[in-house]
Amino acid sequence: MDRVNPVPSPAPADPGAEPRVRHSSRLELSQSAMRNNLEFVREQVGPHPRISLVVKANAYGHGIAQAVAMARRCGIDHFSVASGYEAQEVLAAAPDGAGVMVMGILHDEDLPWVIENGVEFFVFDQSRLRKAAEVAGRTGKPAVIHVEVETGGNRTGLPSEELPDVLKFIRANRARLIFRGVCTHLAGSETLANRFRTSRQVDRFERLHDKLSRQVTRPEIFHMACSAVALSMRDCAYDLIRLGVAAYGLWPSPDIFNLHLIRTTDGRQENPLQRVLTWKTDVMHLKRVLKDEFVGYGTSYQAPKDMTIAVLPIGYSNGYPREMSNRGHVLIRGKKARVVGLVNMNVFTVDVSKIPDVQVGDEVVLVGRQRNNVITLRSFSEFAHALNTEFVCRLPASIPRQIVR
Ligand SMILES: *Cc1c(COP(=O)(O)O)cnc(C)c1O
Repeated sequence: MDRVNPVPSPAPADPGAEPRVRHSSRLELSQSAMRNNLEFVREQVGPHPRISLVVKANAYGHGIAQAVAMARRCGIDHFSVASGYEAQEVLAAAPDGAGVMVMGILHDEDLPWVIENGVEFFVFDQSRLRKAAEVAGRTGKPAVIHVEVETGGNRTGLPSEELPDVLKFIRANRARLIFRGVCTHLAGSETLANRFRTSRQVDRFERLHDKLSRQVTRPEIFHMACSAVALSMRDCAYDLIRLGVAAYGLWPSPDIFNLHLIRTTDGRQENPLQRVLTWKTDVMHLKRVLKDEFVGYGTSYQAPKDMTIAVLPIGYSNGYPREMSNRGHVLIRGKKARVVGLVNMNVFTVDVSKIPDVQVGDEVVLVGRQRNNVITLRSFSEFAHALNTEFVCRLPASIPRQIVR
């Protein structure tokens, strides 16, 4: 009889170890760009609100460990995530007492871990509240909660008619629950066309804030601001800003950037945010292609003349969108080279016929600056009909990420 050998599990990867075999691409993260972005947001919102860096989705693709390390150097001591799993990653990256807040999914079986580690979390239903008090009673450590209230987003959010019961429960369980915050999230503050909807949410939150502030059982802080709110509705900053996309140097939307330009009175029509991320690879192979030959899979690109093609070791499995087929550009020797043919799983091809002296091993910039040219993240969102966060979020966690000056 055949014996089935158990498959040994792989040795756990040491995230600090230098990879011995080189990856097909690399990400460079600019410490000074993040510092610049945080300082710009600080200027916008003034000294009062605390900034919590949102590092969900692997820090918008930048890498949780790296983003946390960079932000710590800029004085950020609070981080927001979408799941308990991500909270664990933040704690591993910042074991030195930074605050961590889970805005989304937490499984009941993880509550003991969350509470023991002082991880703060959103509460948007009464069963979570009761469970939190019960676990806190067992572990002997209070649960730090933020009650997310319904203001009209209609995703998560505690219905307002349940609030009196919730406040009563919190009061009765003072020893087990730290009532840290009351918060909400706006449904599309980055789009001005949504303002009729979001301003209704703002009104409701404001009324709740005024009412709660006068009560004995009240939270330590109130918060509702994401990047778009911080940059365009400063009156709504309250006590904490959950800052995501802008910290990484991306505008929440063209609307918010245009608003900024309109409000800028010093005449400088510049982008005050700086992209943190640069993505690089190298030329893998060069190919002479004769007129009328097709390039890559299928017939989507036929050479109109004799040309030189550079083959790059990157494809959609590496996060390079397939929508860039026959449209995107990369930088080689400081010049733009257009994608020709389809973006494959691990490879795509660019036209380097007009760039002299291209060699195998030459640096290729997929996103970022090379000499006087730049490939913006926005060009990706435009070609791929995606949000600019969508593309960065999908950059695989396995790409090495290095913090640079
Ligand atoms: C993602 C998220 C944010 C951050 O949004 P940005 O637009 O990236 O600043 C803030 N609050 C909540 C609840 C979120 O889910």
